[in-house]
Amino acid sequence: MSPHVLVLGGTTEARELAAALAARPGVRVTSSLAGRVSRPGTPAGEVRVGGFGGAEGLAGWLRAHRVDAVADATHPFAETITRNAARAAAATGVPLVVVRRPGWQAGPGDRWHPVPSLDSAASLLPGLGRRVFLSTGRLGLAAFAHLTGLHFLVRSVEPPEPPLPEDTRVVLARGPFTVPGERDLLRAHRIDVLVTKDSGGAATAAKLTAARELGLPVVVVRRPPLPEGVTAVPDVRTALERLAPTTG
Ligand code: NAP
Repeated sequence: MSPHVLVLGGTTEARELAAALAARPGVRVTSSLAGRVSRPGTPAGEVRVGGFGGAEGLAGWLRAHRVDAVADATHPFAETITRNAARAAAATGVPLVVVRRPGWQAGPGDRWHPVPSLDSAASLLPGLGRRVFLSTGRLGLAAFAHLTGLHFLVRSVEPPEPPLPEDTRVVLARGPFTVPGERDLLRAHRIDVLVTKDSGGAATAAKLTAARELGLPVVVVRRPPLPEGVTAVPDVRTALERLAPTTG
């Protein structure tokens, strides 16, 4: 029977992985999306949308759909689904490969302030600037909602939901972004501090270069750790190598 791979998705890497697996003769690939964005790019192969119902639900799905391997290519900050994938893989004995693009590294001229959480980022902000570019995505903005006296520019793919800080302007946009575009945005909104998650990857890195060029401080929220005992591969190519025993 055709080997069946479940790709936990929502990222560029997941789409690349699904495309590469679907191109392998005889391999069945299903991509799973959380259903948070209304117009996700459609991955190659089969697609299912929505939560599984925790680790137990995911384990049940793996059994019911005779999955031979799971590739967790979710976003580095999608902590819960990654934990659930590790538990479900352990419970079912299905091999798991986790893909995590490397985090960003500060270079000369960067004024980065690493913090462990969005709450810590919010605590730090009043000491760093008054006009904030919040590029942490639509989820988690509640951590900043109590901040008064600061202006926030929020960029997200879908409109954010309350609670938001009282002085917030929203721009809807989907990456990839360019350095000139980011520089123009930061200047046009007279931004004096930027907040980002350490998402890594090229698609959203331009804002960091633009901030460096403009001499702006950047609050960088560190990644949550991987579940205990789980190691990740850094790219799609290595993930495909790891999946080779299952997919040929
Ligand atoms: P999360 O906090 O780790 O997951 C919360 C719940 O959402 C999970 O328990 C699961 O529900 C469901 N879920 C998450 N990813 C799923 C997937 N790929 N397929 C099916 N169900 C999924 O996740 P999140 O941070 O909200 O991220 C949701 C999605 O957006 C992920 O696919 C992620 O790759 C993508 N994304 C996240 C970020 C970010 O900053 N967090 C940025 C870009 C893209 P059940 O327990 O019911 O299974």
